[in-house]
Amino acid sequence: MPELPEVETVARQLAPAVAGRRIERFSILDELLRKQPTPPLRGRTIVSVFRLGKQVAFELGPRPSRDVDPLWLLVHLRMTGRLIAEPEGGRGRPPHLRALFTLDRGRLLFIDTRRFGTFCWVRDLEEGRPAGVDPVSPEFTPERLDALIEGSPSPIKPWLLRQDRIVGLGNIYASEILHVCRVSPHRAAGSLKRRERRALHRATVEVLERAIENCGTTFSDFQDARGVEGSYQQFLAVYGREGERCKRCRGTVEKIVQQQRSTFWCPRCQH
Ligand SMILES: [Zn+2]
Repeated sequence: MPELPEVETVARQLAPAVAGRRIERFSILDELLRKQPTPPLRGRTIVSVFRLGKQVAFELGPRPSRDVDPLWLLVHLRMTGRLIAEPEGGRGRPPHLRALFTLDRGRLLFIDTRRFGTFCWVRDLEEGRPAGVDPVSPEFTPERLDALIEGSPSPIKPWLLRQDRIVGLGNIYASEILHVCRVSPHRAAGSLKRRERRALHRATVEVLERAIENCGTTFSDFQDARGVEGSYQQFLAVYGREGERCKRCRGTVEKIVQQQRSTFWCPRCQH
């Protein structure tokens, strides 16, 4: 499942390839993507591509002299969804193609082997905005984290996965963040002292920004928009390193299960 940095990477890589392009044809090849009626798209221009929570958002400008309203397509990649831009065009239909945009130059493909990815069309971007705060936006301040976390009895690791609190974190980065700020995944979220909450805030921003710089961590099914694997994996300190030496204290990285999700941590340096 791609987490925030991977989705950010996809949006950043797609933007220069498809922004400004006009949609000449749009085909849905998988009925599962038709849960919502598809608005007419021909003639609309892809104005911008950006990340909204864990979704890739496409701002679609009005068709000249036909619409007045902008429209947004929000794509949730889920497990295996990939958005591939082919700026020079391309031919044929690759396996697992679920939707295809033919542009005035090139095309944009949505490929998804497991078919969990979703399309959502909104006329008002607020409808698509996730409930949680975006941890790489200016809204994510230490004070905001304090307010979100206050009084929560949940262990901090599962708490970090709550999309209605902080959006975009999954198992990988939640484990990494707690390792950076040396907080045990078992601690009740609401029990963190002010100093620890500040460290958690810093670690969250730092880990995500570094991951974005490194094009997102890549696991088996995830590939970024150009079909190139991300390069962050080698920077992971605990995730996927069960039984190996902690890079900081030489303790042993352990794997535990919290609320059915695996957590990787170093009991020696995360108190
Ligand atoms: Zn350690």
